[in-house]
Amino acid sequence: METVLQMKELASYASDPSQSRGRTYSEPPPENRTEFQRDRDRIVHSGAFRRLEYKTQVFVNHEGDLFRTRLTHSLEVAQIARTLARSLGLSEDLTEAISLAHDLGHTPFGHAGQDELNACMRELAPEAGGFEHNLQSLRVVDELEERYADFNGLNLCFETREGILKHCSVAHARQLGDVGERFLSRTQPSLEAQLANLADEIAYNNHDIDDGLRSGLITLEQLKDVSIFERHHAEVLSRYPGLAQRRAVAETIRRMINTLIVDLTHTSLARIRDAAPASVDDVRRSPPLAGFSDEIRREADALKKFLFDNLYRHYQVLRMTAKARRIVRELFAAFLDDPRLLPPDYRRPAFNEQARAISDYIAGMTDRYAIREHKRLFDMG
Ligand code: MG
Repeated sequence: METVLQMKELASYASDPSQSRGRTYSEPPPENRTEFQRDRDRIVHSGAFRRLEYKTQVFVNHEGDLFRTRLTHSLEVAQIARTLARSLGLSEDLTEAISLAHDLGHTPFGHAGQDELNACMRELAPEAGGFEHNLQSLRVVDELEERYADFNGLNLCFETREGILKHCSVAHARQLGDVGERFLSRTQPSLEAQLANLADEIAYNNHDIDDGLRSGLITLEQLKDVSIFERHHAEVLSRYPGLAQRRAVAETIRRMINTLIVDLTHTSLARIRDAAPASVDDVRRSPPLAGFSDEIRREADALKKFLFDNLYRHYQVLRMTAKARRIVRELFAAFLDDPRLLPPDYRRPAFNEQARAISDYIAGMTDRYAIREHKRLFDMG
């Protein structure tokens, strides 16, 4: 259909919604939106998207009202990715759709929940195929959402699904058809997908510093060794002596995000200029075209390592993580041991399918639902 509402020029290497490789089940074209806008809208209307509000980023949902959740994280990713896409002449709608959907498959309790669910699947149902959160995000949009009369899932365009599947094991890639191919041929996804991935990294590195400082688990003193933070913070303090600490931190983080976005834009534009892709398929065949300069890449990696060593492995975070792992493991084991404890929709006759349905059920839980469900199964009172 004619994309009259699409006012921004797309570059030749952008993903053009009128050239989409299409949806699994063919549907009449949308009347007043592009195909990628329709995907974005379907994601926002999904049940899995709403549940992101009550899923952990680093802090468990009830620990404080100001901390990021998976939902606010996803919104920050989308906002950064759209800025990048617009500067590079790419499809903002596609990168927004990918960003909003990228964490739909996340379990309760963040990475701890995901690692434990994978461990449970591997130990207790070794033939069932483990648990990968990226793959689960694709599974949510391909199969698990039940909102449309004609099909399971959201029936999204190939380009959106390609972007959602960031990583994937070779064994799984072989079973996935079109979106799995690039993991076998070792090619790249569209630039819109590459940007969503980097926007994810920009978002969490920065908001985890913010949340980490706010929670008191990390300190400004510790951050003196992290060059990207330290140089922006020093700039802010010299320009605004006496500024209250919270505002100085916010101003520092705002400047860091800007530095990262500007560097990523310039570096990517230069690489695109050198590779001169004439189409999105040229992008797929090129080495990654979106990226940071070497210097900023080093600084961003140092920031990431700082967070890993000092926040994600902080003893108070690890205590939460240990509890979360126990909840996920006990739920999984109890349901697998006696599937009659499951809501009827999740019962399956065959063992491997039963294990998969249990992992879908647990992965779909919010933090507080998992805690409640655990109480219902294990507490008498
Ligand atoms: Mg993310």
